[in-house]
Amino acid sequence: MRQRTPRFASALLLGVLAAACGVQSKGVELGGPVPTTESGPSRTTAVAPSTTRTIGPVVDDGVVKAVVTPTGVVAAVRSVRADGSYVVVSPCAREVTIAKATPVPRVHVVLDPGHGGAADPGSVGKSGLTEAQLNLVVAELTKAELEAVGVSVALTRTTNSYLSLAARGAIVTSLAPAAFVSIHHNGGPNRTAPTPGTEVYYQVADEVRSKRLAGLVHEEVVAALATTGLASWSWYDDAGVKVRVNDQGGDYYGILRHAAGVPSALVELAYLSATAEEEALLRTDEVRRLEAGAVARGIVRFLTTDDPGSGYVGPSRRTAEATGGGTSGCVDPPLQ
Ligand SMILES: [Zn+2]
Repeated sequence: MRQRTPRFASALLLGVLAAACGVQSKGVELGGPVPTTESGPSRTTAVAPSTTRTIGPVVDDGVVKAVVTPTGVVAAVRSVRADGSYVVVSPCAREVTIAKATPVPRVHVVLDPGHGGAADPGSVGKSGLTEAQLNLVVAELTKAELEAVGVSVALTRTTNSYLSLAARGAIVTSLAPAAFVSIHHNGGPNRTAPTPGTEVYYQVADEVRSKRLAGLVHEEVVAALATTGLASWSWYDDAGVKVRVNDQGGDYYGILRHAAGVPSALVELAYLSATAEEEALLRTDEVRRLEAGAVARGIVRFLTTDDPGSGYVGPSRRTAEATGGGTSGCVDPPLQ
């Protein structure tokens, strides 16, 4: 199936042009000039995007690369058997055969709501809001923002359930989108600052695409969150855009490692578990939409411009261990 929907291409073009002109498209402001924030430790300067290319239709060779199982689990497809059943990568990263599933079409972008389920809630706010829940809401809103301008999107999970990093990575590399963003909210700041403490990690092995994607997402998110007027944001000293390297010289974060070959970024939008004020912001629809719009704009600018992004800092020297996302003791949910 090549160019399955001619309408799609024109919708996409219109959407991108609308974005470039700062015109509202279905209520979404994807490309309007964003505020400039030159003060504060991040030294972020957001600039109006300049469209230099449009996004073509997704190339789909008709080979099923991922499916949604009858129980709503998204899974990478390893192979399709002669009887039509699928060999898929389960949430615990095991190969499992399922008789029936709904194919996931090829997409421009894959979004990953970080963490999931009781076994991996991520950071937890003082009022009990989990990062797993919040990341899913923001990812769904980001998907809607992108789709409104003709950018097709798949999510790695659509429910609050456990999904190993290996299974997430399998979905990403299988679908091979033009961009991949893993959406998170942070914990463990070491100070506060007057500007948002947003962090975006890129892949060690991709200093061009992954780095620019991370820089553009950072630029948009910091500019968007700054409009909330919060006076004191949670921060860690190395906030900004960076790599974090493991002992072997590869990406410390498993999701970036497992997504190797696809331009990828992991964004820690803001801190969920530090102050009541910041958590209260993250409980509002308004700020969630602000985050989603910003991530979407960053992705669209990555796909349509050569803008460099900003907020780059040196490699992270964090020592705290990341937790969750492994397959040890993992119990797969019913898949059919
Ligand atoms: Zn996280």
